[in-house]
Amino acid sequence: MTLQLQENLSLKPYNTFGVEVSARWFAQAHDDAEVREGLATAAGKGLPLMVIGGGSNLLLTRDVEALVLRMASRGARILSDDGVRVVVEAEAGEVWDDFVRWTLEQGLGGLENLSLIPGTVGAAPMQNIGAYGVEIKDVFVSLTALDRQSGELREFDLGECAFAYRESRFKREPERWLILRVRFSLSRAPQLRLDYGPVRQRLAEEGGDTPTPADVSRVIRAIRREKLPDPAILGNAGSFFKNPVVTAGEADALRARFSDLVAYPQGDGQVKLAAGWLIDRAGWKGFRDGAVGVHAQQALVLVNYGGATGAQLYALAGRIREDIRQRFGVDLEMEPNLY
Ligand code: FAD
Ligand code: NAP
Repeated sequence: MTLQLQENLSLKPYNTFGVEVSARWFAQAHDDAEVREGLATAAGKGLPLMVIGGGSNLLLTRDVEALVLRMASRGARILSDDGVRVVVEAEAGEVWDDFVRWTLEQGLGGLENLSLIPGTVGAAPMQNIGAYGVEIKDVFVSLTALDRQSGELREFDLGECAFAYRESRFKREPERWLILRVRFSLSRAPQLRLDYGPVRQRLAEEGGDTPTPADVSRVIRAIRREKLPDPAILGNAGSFFKNPVVTAGEADALRARFSDLVAYPQGDGQVKLAAGWLIDRAGWKGFRDGAVGVHAQQALVLVNYGGATGAQLYALAGRIREDIRQRFGVDLEMEPNLY
């Protein structure tokens, strides 16, 4: 196929905040050849290339003077199956949640806790996506990426990805690697991860003795639909801030002042604070200023009520961050990728 280029295209449909900015050039890559064509075209025009998937982890604050390449490659397949462990591979442009559903249809467990996360397979390793006690690093095998500097393909195994909480090597080296396909090790006899209270509780209410991965997925989908705003209705990029990790001493000092502090020991002397609790406790939940606000059910989610600019969203985030620093002495780090 040949890349179809569009000039000065609105990116509003391509970012879940629904922010109106334009791309100098835009194209969709359906296979490796079109990815290479995109890189060559951008170089020929003297422009950078910006790769996107579903645009669900982006905050766009200005027009993008680049060739925006949206990954649209599709396909998922089983690579090996020993009757219990099954290695699967998916193309970068595959919709993440379609892929999760496909793995469940194959009778495979491992990705059920990551149900209904928006975006693409190729972007999932960028921040080692996680939810309800599971991160992709828990089931990751390897990925294939194109080195944008040398043009060569490179395979990365788990140890080479530097996965951490909402972090990876690929996020730290943003202009270097273009992820083409990702492989996961799933199981026909999975160990379910039911650490998060609402999941366990919802399953208990249903009364089944032995939940399956499909049950966990269904329950998590229901919880997420109730709690999180649908970007098709209310623009957002999910959690706007990462949960801050502090020392046990800092957490104790905060608990002395706020007995209802929500905090989770990490087992390494560090403690994870729930950023949503901090923002809620500071009174921001449900706050609205014109077109931007903080979601009424989930204080971690900033929303675009319609017509907001990226700069307005970023300014609101700055106000929240400063307030949290002053009240709690805690620094919040932004999660979405800023342009
Ligand atoms: P994009 O937003 O398009 O891109 C994100 C970054 O990855 C950009 O820097 C982009 O340049 C880069 N990128 C994209 N594709 C590639 C590629 N193929 N190769 C190299 N770089 C690439 N995240 C979680 O971790 N857990 C959640 O539970 C969760 N829930 C969410 C709920 C909602 C309602 C929303 C809106 C977002 C949520 N997110 C969550 C955030 C987001 O969905 C994930 O980070 C997702 O992986 C982003 O995928 P994307 O395809 O939309 O990436
Ligand atoms: P929640 O269940 O209300 O919990 C609030 C916070 O406490 C979460 O951030 C979670 O941390 C932490 N937490 C809860 N139970 C925990 C446990 N048993 N052990 C360790 N930490 C625990 O959270 P929520 O906002 O409804 O989100 C549910 C899950 O979906 C979370 O895992 C969250 O990260 C994920 N999610 C992510 C995004 C995103 O954009 N990144 C958006 C929506 C939901 P963790 O966040 O570290 O899990």
